Amino acid sequence: MYKGRNQRNRSKIALCELQLRFELPETAVTTYADSTEARMAKRAEELARSLAQLKANPRVRDIRVIVSTDACPACKEVAGTYTKDNVPALPPEGCSCPRGCEGHYQPMLNEIYP
Ligand SMILES: [Zn+2]
Repeated sequence: MYKGRNQRNRSKIALCELQLRFELPETAVTTYADSTEARMAKRAEELARSLAQLKANPRVRDIRVIVSTDACPACKEVAGTYTKDNVPALPPEGCSCPRGCEGHYQPMLNEIYP
């Protein structure tokens, strides 16, 4: 009799724990989505700033767009070498990289004469 009630209490506690555990991932997902969005916005800002710096640097002749091998089709599409005048913005329109655009700019420098 006593044992039976004790078990019922225990399963009630287990249910509460279950609800708690069920609520936790939901909160985690929301936080994750928010931080991904914030991270992507920050990344786009950094890319724009680095592109502006490269364009302003007279030693930079061309700019290469580097994307990772697992980048989305939109990113792979813009990978390549460009003159300063026609460098595409990163992330490209329609970028669907799961972790946000991981592409970056790489400067191609002019020959340096002594
Ligand atoms: Zn992408």
